[in-house]
Amino acid sequence: ATVLAIETSCDETAVAIVNNRNICSSVVTSQITLHRVYGGVVPEMASREHLLTINPCIEQAFLESKLNWSDIDGVAATVAPGLVGALMIGSTAAKTLAILYDKPFIGVHHLEGHIYATYLSDPTWEPPFLCLLVSGGHTSLIYVKNCGVYEQLGSTRDDAAGEAFDKVARLLNLEYPGGPIIDRLAKTGNPKRFILPEGKVSLPEGGYHRYDSSFSGLKTAVLRLVEQLKKEGQEPLPVADLAASFQDTVARSLTKKTIACALDYGIKKIAIGGGVAANSGLRQHLQEAAKEHDLIVHFPPLKLCTDNAAMIGCAATDHLQRGHISALSLGVSSRLNITEVMKLYES
Ligand code: ATP
Ligand code: MG
Ligand code: FE
Repeated sequence: ATVLAIETSCDETAVAIVNNRNICSSVVTSQITLHRVYGGVVPEMASREHLLTINPCIEQAFLESKLNWSDIDGVAATVAPGLVGALMIGSTAAKTLAILYDKPFIGVHHLEGHIYATYLSDPTWEPPFLCLLVSGGHTSLIYVKNCGVYEQLGSTRDDAAGEAFDKVARLLNLEYPGGPIIDRLAKTGNPKRFILPEGKVSLPEGGYHRYDSSFSGLKTAVLRLVEQLKKEGQEPLPVADLAASFQDTVARSLTKKTIACALDYGIKKIAIGGGVAANSGLRQHLQEAAKEHDLIVHFPPLKLCTDNAAMIGCAATDHLQRGHISALSLGVSSRLNITEVMKLYES
């Protein structure tokens, strides 16, 4: 099936045309420069910007694909989770086009989209597999059993991995978004210079939760360390070493949890998705650990890890082929667990 897909859950306006696991066109317009001065995404500005950019992006997607409406079997949009005002723009545009051109509408869960990035970059990839989803808003270990069938095995108790990168970058006086900057700085720093806590999630009955993450303690540890270094007069701060030590701690912790989960559940294949999947430290740690334990690990290319509409379109074609179609009355939602995706489709 061929689907036109729209993604506006946060600060990227993205439109793509996807034929199953092939990308016919993929347009991504980032609003980062707009939000950077505020140090984070301003929801109202994001919505307004989506509204301004959405139509040119749709036109561009058709131009690049050399396709027209007669080639399109369905129109998809991200409907959850994300910023409600932002989601509304993409989903309303998609529904309007679906009505206008008499096509089915497919609402897509953003995280299911991140999972589908793997199928786009490796068309031979099939479930079951374990997906480590690390993005600006999520840190999850998802057992992917089939299209629409997910089990969440791990999550974060506080900050998401990307959020932790962004907050630590802020402590180090770096720009937003901090993930890519920390990644770049870490390459020249010493990851062993500062020993930071990995952040364990305690269980009420004692011991630790093996698959859940917690990054707030790590963030506080970096803050205390920065304060101490300043007190000792160590300025300018050794940002490269700080970045490398922080990144290494996050990468080691995520890798440990992912491998433990895969081994415990007997899952042989691991995929990774979300913006933080672009992180070079995480990729390296996970690659080495997977090799050591004889597990297969797949990393989508960077442009498929961060937000895009191609991944949304790929998920939509799979649903459409299974007859999963959304009602035009389907709303958007800021929160929806991935285990509940089938609620988006009419039975
Ligand atoms: P969600 O998918 O949870 O709704 P989102 O869509 O905003 O959140 P993504 O676009 O998937 O998140 O990822 C953005 C996050 O990824 C940001 O926090 C950014 O700092 C982080 N990020 C991007 N590149 C890197 C990198 N190389 N290393 C670490 N973090 C990175
Ligand atoms: Mg984004
Ligand atoms: Fe995302």
